[in-house]
Amino acid sequence: MKISIIGTGYVGAVTGACLADLGNTIIFVGRNKAKLKLIKSGKSPIFEPGLEQLLIKNEKRIATTTDLSDAVSKTDVTLICVGTPSKADGSIDLQQINDVSVAIGKSLVESEKKHTIIMKSTVLPGTTEQLVIPILERESGKKAIEGFGIASNPEFLKEGSAIEDFFHTDRVIIGVNDQETENLMKKIYSPLNAPVFSTNIRTSEMIKYVSNAFLATKISFANEIGNLCKRMDIDSFEVFEGVGLDARISPHFFRSGIGFGGSCFPKDVRALISHARNLGLEPKVLNAVIRTNEEQPAKMIELLKHHMNITGKTIGVLGLAFKPDSDDVRESRAIPIIKLLLEQGATVIAFDPVATENFRPHFPDIYYAKTAEEVLDTDAILIVTEWKEFENLDFRGKVIVDGRRIGKARKEANVYEGVCW
Ligand code: NAD
Repeated sequence: MKISIIGTGYVGAVTGACLADLGNTIIFVGRNKAKLKLIKSGKSPIFEPGLEQLLIKNEKRIATTTDLSDAVSKTDVTLICVGTPSKADGSIDLQQINDVSVAIGKSLVESEKKHTIIMKSTVLPGTTEQLVIPILERESGKKAIEGFGIASNPEFLKEGSAIEDFFHTDRVIIGVNDQETENLMKKIYSPLNAPVFSTNIRTSEMIKYVSNAFLATKISFANEIGNLCKRMDIDSFEVFEGVGLDARISPHFFRSGIGFGGSCFPKDVRALISHARNLGLEPKVLNAVIRTNEEQPAKMIELLKHHMNITGKTIGVLGLAFKPDSDDVRESRAIPIIKLLLEQGATVIAFDPVATENFRPHFPDIYYAKTAEEVLDTDAILIVTEWKEFENLDFRGKVIVDGRRIGKARKEANVYEGVCW
């Protein structure tokens, strides 16, 4: 199949490369020529293990362009993979969705064959039906279903293991309002042999939000219990190991620590809260999930202060990415942690194996170390991201507050505090 991908961020780049590997011809549509040039030359615009290899392997089936209309006209299917960030009040910002819908709609005016548009971006239930379809119909002069196909196909990849997640997904969710589009969607994903769940468009959109809200809830629950365990001198990891053996509960996403960041959980939970309020509902559990998550990073500073007055001290921060194997720093827990350290008069030395340049604009004036070892030469060290390579450091004689449970630090440090253990 010929597929155009609009947006070459984490979702667009990964989905396009993986669909090319399944034998499809891909045209990536982006706004940044330099980034497109990178993709075309087999270089990944983001840090994602395995992505460059896929781009190189499938180079013959991959093209790039800034001309959205040309890409749509040369393909049968278009995947919308643009950003859906939060506005300042937590509600969803649909400007990018709005803009690409207008552009796709205009591109469909002249097309003679039926084109299908797939919403991969995370959008609130009703967005495709109430915003995207009306724009496409208005701009193209065609009717949805008869004139063009339309589907929701939310993305569940995890940054850092996105390629693996694509090829071995737990499920493919297909939101469609007609049989022809459902058949086409099933054809695209048939090589994966993954369980397919078909539903209508708005239910599919809701499945994405509920998945993220539930996982975020599990983490905040683990953190609340973790804080309690810490006070009682109980290891929350052992508690959750035992709890997770219950098949009704499952052991995943019980890693208590300093909370979740990233481009999805915080913004998606806030968008759902904002949407619920617009509908006259106050979501008490979801509010608590966000509040617990926001309070968690400060626990590191509280624990450190049991051991030293941090004013005037040099504090090392290990890890700036929101999770290991990613260069994404959106909503990274390192941001509130470094802010608190600076507010309390500490000097900060920070290190991350890949995310430093993405992080630098947040704090241009702190010192960014070239190696993790450099960070160890400080008064105390906060472990913020669980990069594997931190397991090889020599923590002997050090003062460590660990937000992510690095085993070697736990064993070796002179003073060691785990946030929830
Ligand atoms: P991103 O910000 O990394 O990428 C979005 C890209 O779209 C950017 O490169 C931007 O320049 C581009 N773009 C915007 N308007 C464009 C236009 N008119 N033409 C061409 N390109 C345009 O975002 P992302 O992390 O890839 O997420 C995309 C969507 O997928 C979001 O809705 C997000 O919530 C969802 N999602 C993300 C993840 C994840 O782990 N990152 C996982 C699942 C779902």
